[in-house]
Amino acid sequence: MKRRNFNNTLIKGIGGAAVLSALPMSYAMKRADENSLGIALVGLGSYSTYQLAPALQQTRHCHLAGIVTGTPAKAKRWASQYNIPERNIYNYDSFDEIKNNKEIDIVYVVLPNSMHAEFSIRAAKAGKHVICEKPMAVSVAECDAIIQACESAGVKLGMGYRLHSEPYTQRIKRFVKDNTFGKTLYVSGDAAYISRGNPDQWRLDIKLSGGGALMNMGVYAIQSAIYSCGMNPVSVTAQEFSTRPEYFKETDETITAQFEFPEGVVGNIMTSHNASANRLYASCSRGWMELQPASSYGPLRGNTSKGPISFEHESQQKLQMDDFSLHILEGAVNKAPGAMGKRDLMIIEAIYASIAAGGKKVELDLGNMGIV
Ligand code: NAD
Repeated sequence: MKRRNFNNTLIKGIGGAAVLSALPMSYAMKRADENSLGIALVGLGSYSTYQLAPALQQTRHCHLAGIVTGTPAKAKRWASQYNIPERNIYNYDSFDEIKNNKEIDIVYVVLPNSMHAEFSIRAAKAGKHVICEKPMAVSVAECDAIIQACESAGVKLGMGYRLHSEPYTQRIKRFVKDNTFGKTLYVSGDAAYISRGNPDQWRLDIKLSGGGALMNMGVYAIQSAIYSCGMNPVSVTAQEFSTRPEYFKETDETITAQFEFPEGVVGNIMTSHNASANRLYASCSRGWMELQPASSYGPLRGNTSKGPISFEHESQQKLQMDDFSLHILEGAVNKAPGAMGKRDLMIIEAIYASIAAGGKKVELDLGNMGIV
């Protein structure tokens, strides 16, 4: 049976998924294991180094099989630290050769935002499943191009939206689905941190980032408002604030936006590179729900009008990459599909359009996307 085509029968045939999951596997065992997909990380910056690579030492259904980097010294360091063979190391020019590499099933794009589309599309054309970091791209048009490339190649596409595999966030979504606190009336989502780093970093360069706080942390604020009511917004009105224009020369510093949702639900979000905030709050007809922190790497903290919620901490990135692998391996639900990444870019573009129009309300037509 081909590596890419095996199914539940094979898993059950060798003793059942529960048995497999119960046994911690060494890295070498994982690599040899047909039930573990090989991931290649593209871009070995801070997220790959401090979150994804360590998480890939804990995953059950995927493992770190390859790297793509423009820096030979990093390639050497990673190869030795993670025992990555020379044949699985690429640079940005040789990347397309990855199509001939059977040890790599998934390409995870962890580059500056404006490079997501190019590398996701090249990965799809190489026949690899794709995980694309957030924001999906710097325009809706680019999101469409990524989705189209993955569909044409017949590969799966997932967003690096770790919170969709994270238990506190899942519980909020479950509360909404089960109507535990009645109808959501008002939601508030804040996602912000203070940036004082190198003024030459790519996040401050509009050509590489596509935008500032909104493109970066704004995605979390938008998403938290959406999953706290279980609906997509129908309009947005937005404002931008600048207090350090000498530092934020090209990119937005602070943005607030108000959403109208169906059924009269009201939402308010704030995102900033010049304030600290990390919270979601939903006021409902029979109580309230809150996460604070709501979007960091965890552990998150949750409280409700019925009392606190609590989960044991696990790496969110581990959960996310395992979930996507199970989507490929067993047809499990894709918790953060490309359509969700595109939906968020549609909202981001509407927020920027509202600001450009002096704070005018911009209508959104997201109802038929089937994604909340
Ligand atoms: P980073 O600056 O630490 O790393 C960026 C990497 O891209 C570096 O290895 C750099 O060498 C490489 N690169 C290639 N071409 C480049 C160019 N022209 N300019 C600058 N760097 C270039 O950034 P990061 O924090 O690792 O973020 C990478 C991506 O991951 C971003 O899209 C970001 O939004 C996303 N991210 C997601 C999360 C999350 O929680 N899901 C967290 C952090 C970052």
